[in-house]
Amino acid sequence: MFQKIQPPSDGEKIEMRDEKLFVPDNPIIPYFVGDGIGPDIFKATLPTLDAAVQKAYGGSKKISWFKIYAGDEARAFYNPELTDEELLKIPIDEQRNVYLPKDTLNAIREYKVALKGPLTTPIGEGFRSLNVGIRQILDLYVCVRPVKYFQGVPTRTKFPEELDIVIFRENSEDVYSGIEFAKDDENQKKLLKLLRSMGKVIREDSGIGIKPISETGSKRLVRAAIKYAIEKNLPLVTLVHKGNIMKYTEGAFKNWGYEVATSEFREQIITEDELWDKHDGKMPEGKILINDRIADIIFQHILLRSSEFSVLATMNLNGDYISDAAAAIVGGLGMAPGANINYVTGVMVAEATHGTAPKYTDMDKVNPSSVMLSAAIMFDYMGWPEAGELIQRGIQRAVANKEVTYDLARQMDNVTPIKCSEFGHAVVKYM
Ligand code: NAP
Repeated sequence: MFQKIQPPSDGEKIEMRDEKLFVPDNPIIPYFVGDGIGPDIFKATLPTLDAAVQKAYGGSKKISWFKIYAGDEARAFYNPELTDEELLKIPIDEQRNVYLPKDTLNAIREYKVALKGPLTTPIGEGFRSLNVGIRQILDLYVCVRPVKYFQGVPTRTKFPEELDIVIFRENSEDVYSGIEFAKDDENQKKLLKLLRSMGKVIREDSGIGIKPISETGSKRLVRAAIKYAIEKNLPLVTLVHKGNIMKYTEGAFKNWGYEVATSEFREQIITEDELWDKHDGKMPEGKILINDRIADIIFQHILLRSSEFSVLATMNLNGDYISDAAAAIVGGLGMAPGANINYVTGVMVAEATHGTAPKYTDMDKVNPSSVMLSAAIMFDYMGWPEAGELIQRGIQRAVANKEVTYDLARQMDNVTPIKCSEFGHAVVKYM
C-alpha cells in the first residue's frame, strides 16, 4: 500500500463500521511534524501524550505512532535530489504531491485518526495551501474548534472564563472552494458576459469569487453539531449566518439547519420559535435548543454574553473569523486547538491551529499547547476522554504555576520563560 513508509509492526487499525468508530487498545496513529516549529512542538508533545495514556489507563492502552511525511520533510524524504528549478517545471498538481505524498494521504485514510503539524505553503505560482488541500482531498467537512479559558492565561478580557463553546465550522465549501477568476482573465470576461445576460452587472475590473453553499454541505455540518451537543449533553446549538443579506446561501444554510434539526432530531430538540410559542420561554427538561443568530452580532455576543453560547454551527468563512475572535477572548491563538473530521468515513486530522512560525525553527522555544490540546480532542473522538482530560489538567496547572513558554511569560509579571521541551515535562509533572 505504501511506497516508502512502513507502519509499526505492533498495533492495530482504527476502523469505521456502520458509522461507528472502533478503536483498539493499541491503535496505530499516523503523524507528521510539519515545517518550521513543527518538529519542536512534536518532540515535546508525543511523549506527553504517551504519558497521559499511560497515566489514564495504567498500561492497558498504548499508541503506536506511525511517522509519515508532509511539507519540506516530505520533499527531502521522497525527492532529495529535486531542485527548485525542476520543481517549478512540473505541473501544479504534481508539485503538491512532492509536499503531500500519496503515502501520507493513504496512511491517514487507512488509519483514520492522525495528528498533523503546521505546514508552509510552498513556493510556486498558484500553489494552494497544503492544509486546505488535506481537508479537501479527504473531505474533512467539519472543523471542530473548542474554545475555553485556562486559568492563569493572560488575557485582555475581563471574564474569559465565561466563554466555553465549541465551534463547528463547515470546511468544504463557501468562498473557500477555490472558484475564483482574476480581473482580465478570459473566464472572468465570459462570466461577466453571462451575468450581464441575466441582468446582473458587475464592474469590469472586478475579481470574482463564487460562494457555493449546498444543502448537502449545510445539513451534514449541522447534523454533526447537533449530534455532538446530544452526546456531550450541551444545551444549545446556534446556527450562525448572514441570511438577511445573502438569502440563497447564508439564509439557505439557516433553513437547512432547522430542517435537519426538526426532521432528524425531533425528539431531542426544540427551536427558539417553539420555545416561545409552546413553552412560554421555559426550556423543557432534557431538550436542546436550536436557535440562529446573524453572524455580525455573534462577535458582540460572544464577548458581552459569553455564557449564553454552547455549540455554534457556522459556514466556512464566518467560522474562520469567529474561531479566531473567540480564541482572542480567552488569550489568543497560541492555545487554540482544532480538528478536521469526516464523520461518515471516520477520518479525523487533529492539528495545531497556528502556523510554522519559521523564525523560531529549532529554537525549542514556542508553546506546544495548541497541538497538545488538539490531541486532547483526538482522544475524546477516539473514546479516550480520560487521556484528553489529563492533558488539559497538566496544561492548566503548568500555566497556573507560571511554568510557561515565552509567549505567555512575556504577558505575565516577573516570569522567566521555559523551553518548549521543558513545558512538555511540566505538563506531564502536573497531570
Ligand atoms: P504563524 O506561523 O502562526 O506565526 C505568527 C506568530 O504567532 C509567530 O511569529 C508567533 O508570534 C506566534 N506563534 C505561532 N505559533 C506559536 C506557538 N506555538 N507558540 C508561541 N507563539 C506562536 O503565522 P504566520 O507567520 O502568518 O505563518 C507562517 C507560515 O505558516 C505560513 O507559511 C502560513 O501559510 C503557515 N500557516 C500554516 C497553518 C497550518 O498549518 N494550519 C496555519 C497558519 C499559517 P511572535 O512573533 O509574537 O512571537
